[in-house]
Amino acid sequence: MAETDIGPPDFRTMLPEVIAKNYGQWKYHENIKPGVYKHVAEGGDEVYTVRCGSPKLVCTDFIRDLCDIADKYCDGHMRFTSRYNPEFLTPKKENVEPIVAAVTKLGLPVGGTGRGISNVIHTQGWIHCHTPATDASGVVKAIMDELYPYFVGEKTLPHKLRLSLACCLNMCGAIHASDLAVVGIHTRIPGIDHEKLHAQCEIPTTAQGCPTKAIRKHPDPNVKSVVVAEDKCMYCGNCYTICPAMPIANPEGDGVAIFAGGKVSNARKPPRLSRVIIPFIPNNPPRWPELVAVLKQIVEVYGKNARPLERFGEWVERVGWEKFYKLAELPFPVQLIDDFELARDTLRSTTQFKWS
Ligand code: SF4
Ligand code: SF4
Repeated sequence: MAETDIGPPDFRTMLPEVIAKNYGQWKYHENIKPGVYKHVAEGGDEVYTVRCGSPKLVCTDFIRDLCDIADKYCDGHMRFTSRYNPEFLTPKKENVEPIVAAVTKLGLPVGGTGRGISNVIHTQGWIHCHTPATDASGVVKAIMDELYPYFVGEKTLPHKLRLSLACCLNMCGAIHASDLAVVGIHTRIPGIDHEKLHAQCEIPTTAQGCPTKAIRKHPDPNVKSVVVAEDKCMYCGNCYTICPAMPIANPEGDGVAIFAGGKVSNARKPPRLSRVIIPFIPNNPPRWPELVAVLKQIVEVYGKNARPLERFGEWVERVGWEKFYKLAELPFPVQLIDDFELARDTLRSTTQFKWS
């Protein structure tokens, strides 16, 4: 294959020997204990996988520690799942417990497999990105401290439950297709620094960058700046990306929404998009207690009421959203009604529908 500097290197050049040999020829797999999988190939080869939890933002020393484990027990191979779980793969059964011990010594929990909660996929948050309406790592840490028993297998659920967090509506965190998701939401129009705007931003580009055309030239011709029509602004933060003199972050108005019912898998039902179930919870750093409490409540209601092997969205679809709100003891605020003008086909406007 031709070498280029575009995109990631070809993964096939980095597969462990046993995976390359049996690629596409796996017969079955078992979750032999929380965090440990055994895969068996058609030809009889076995591979054991130890999965652990990890923060998303890590330092090079931490990566070196993981690589030392991979060098010692896995012929120098390891991988990160799409939800950032470090995974160590070995064909040697006798290496499983030493890997578990080495990972535990690093302070990482072994788990995230089977009918429970895996690592939470999330975005950059206050530590890095410029448009977040909430933090990412801090919120996820607070959530997973509470849901930890579901990661290590002390508690189980009807099926796997994928959690994610995106700190603004750009949704870098794949929240649209997770069972439960937290999304940062701005609720105030951007501030405008008229002193800086004319020096830092190009006014026509800034106005054109607004999806709802809420940005206009300042009515005073002597002020080289813009104004925002509050009734048109949807708080997307796009203008701040284009113009640093229009910051969208607001300590009073920023918070999170909760989405639910999405999935990527094609098993039983096609992939599903998640829907908003709670439109707004204000930020309450450093531990977001209100958010954590409501997420725990929703996870427990799912655990108690869904059938075995029913994903979150499949369960809600079976019982109905109205019943879900009752079971979860959640209010149904008006903001959940999709009143976008093209949404009349998605509204349940039939005379057959009754709120029960
Ligand atoms: Fe930045 Fe938004 Fe992505 Fe968060 S979700 S990292 S704020 S673009
Ligand atoms: Fe327009 Fe979005 Fe900026 Fe509001 S936040 S003015 S909708 S670009």
